[in-house]
Amino acid sequence: MRPAASSPSKIARRGLMLVLSSPSGAGKSTIARNLLDDDHSLEISVSVTTRQKRPSEIAGKHYHFITVPQFERMRDAGDLLEWAEVHGNYYGTPREPVEQAMAEGRDMLFDIDWQGALQLQEKMKADVVSIFVLPPSMTELQSRLHRRAEDTEEVIRTRLLNSRAEIEHWREYDYVIVNDDLDEAFGYVSCIVKAERIRRDRRHGLFDFVQGLLTEEPAL
Ligand code: 5GP
Repeated sequence: MRPAASSPSKIARRGLMLVLSSPSGAGKSTIARNLLDDDHSLEISVSVTTRQKRPSEIAGKHYHFITVPQFERMRDAGDLLEWAEVHGNYYGTPREPVEQAMAEGRDMLFDIDWQGALQLQEKMKADVVSIFVLPPSMTELQSRLHRRAEDTEEVIRTRLLNSRAEIEHWREYDYVIVNDDLDEAFGYVSCIVKAERIRRDRRHGLFDFVQGLLTEEPAL
């Protein structure tokens, strides 16, 4: 019996760029954290930002905290794959780690806003899978922002005002999830990742695998 060309689980494929967006407080960061804990083949893209570090954040893990001149230098040198001004601060995705991951067929998770999602969709096309997370209600969004208790009242107000503008962009995403129940929302995201990984057009190794299948002669 001739063996098949490769094991089905090892069929080579391009890396996936999973984009998660939502208004602040809709639960996207918690979903992202659960996903990273659950799926070790997914890695997070660590953005650069000019905003102040929150007490609970770790530099280099949650963000690379940089100054406005540093940000402008990176942006002008083309070192950012996408960037945007969000709630009065700059945020951007460093280009190099993403290009390296994609070349090696590794999957990356992006916690970015609608402006960044659009830029990635334009530049990376089929490699991008985008998910928008909606809060169950605006009242719940507001109380989640207060419960987080890491931002000042003024910052919370700005974020609530901006949340409507962010929600307006829900149609630009491949999938939309209402985060009413965190476990359920996480379950959906996890299923989307699994399904997207086996899409035919992502798995360039399928051709050889199927060729192997067709030339295999099982012993009777
Ligand atoms: P936060 O300040 O709460 O960490 O993030 C504020 C918003 O900026 C969130 O919607 C987050 O997804 C978005 N964001 C974080 N990093 C990036 C980035 O690199 N690019 C873009 N476009 N948005 C980002």
